[in-house]
Amino acid sequence: PAVLRGLAPEVPDTRFEDVGGLQEVKEALRELVELPLSHGALLRAYGLPPPRGALLYGPPGCGKTLLAQAAASRCGANFLSVRGPELLQKWLGESEAAVRSLFETARQAAPCLIFFDEIDSIAGRRGGGGGGAAAGEAAAARVLNQLLVELDGLADRGGVFLLAATNRPEALDPALLRPGRLDRLLRVPLPDAAARASILASRLARCPLGADVDLAELAGEATRGMSGADLAEVCRRAGTAAIRELVAAERSWAQQQEAAAGGAAAQPPPQAPP
Ligand code: ATP
Repeated sequence: PAVLRGLAPEVPDTRFEDVGGLQEVKEALRELVELPLSHGALLRAYGLPPPRGALLYGPPGCGKTLLAQAAASRCGANFLSVRGPELLQKWLGESEAAVRSLFETARQAAPCLIFFDEIDSIAGRRGGGGGGAAAGEAAAARVLNQLLVELDGLADRGGVFLLAATNRPEALDPALLRPGRLDRLLRVPLPDAAARASILASRLARCPLGADVDLAELAGEATRGMSGADLAEVCRRAGTAAIRELVAAERSWAQQQEAAAGGAAAQPPPQAPP
C-alpha cells in the first residue's frame, strides 16, 4: 500500500544465539510465536484462538529489537518493523490508514511478525493529565483505536503476530493489555555479569584480543549497569582504537624502511607486514 511505501517485509537473519543472555525471555518468546506463526493449522484444528500479541518491556538498548528479529527468523516468518513516533509524524493525518496498511501488508506476507517499537507513544493512558498537545493526543488515541481494531480483527487463522516494545510499561493504556490483545508481558532487563560476558564475546568474536584481555573480568564491576547497546559501543570504540594503532604502526614501519632505503642503494620495495 502506498501509505507504507518502503516497508518491505523480509525474514531477518538475526538468530537467538546472537542475543546475549536473556535465556528465559528467549524460551518464552519462542514458544509464544511458534504457535501462531508456525502452527496456525493445529490451533485451528483444536478450535483455539491464536495468541495475537505480546509486549516486551525494559530499559533501552537491551535487545528487544534483536529478540523480535530472532523470533521471526526462528519461525521463518517475515518481519515488519515500525516505530510509534514515526507512525504519528511521518504519516501525519494518515496514521490510521498507515496502521490498516501495516496489518494488510502483514496478512499478505503471512506468516509475519509485526514489531511495534515505542508503543507508548500511541498507547499512553487515555484521559490522563489534561492539557498538553491536545491535537497530538487525539491523533494518538485514533491510532491506538485503529490498532485495537486490527488486533481484534486478526482472524483465527493465525499467521500474524504483534510484538510491541516499550521502556514505559506503566504508561500503557490497559485496553491494549486485555486478554486476546498484548496479553503476555515479557521483561527484558539490563544484562547481568554472565550476560554481559556473552554480549562482549559475541561482539568481539572476530577481533584479535590482547593476551591480557579478560572478558569475564570486564563483564564484572567495570560494566555493571551497562546495557547491551552500551557494551556494543565499548567494543566498537576499543576495536577502532586498535585499528588506528595498527595503521599508525604500519605507517611508521614504512617510513623507517624508506629512510633506510634512502641511505643505502635502491632496494626492492619491502613486503607489507602480515
Ligand atoms: P530500544 O528500547 O532503544 O529500542 P532495544 O531494547 O530494542 O532498545 P536493541 O535495538 O535490540 O535494543 O539493541 C541495540 C543494540 O545493542 C543492538 O543492535 C546490539 O548491538 C546491542 N545489544 C543490545 N542488547 C543486546 C544483547 N542482549 N545481546 C547482544 N547485543 C545486544
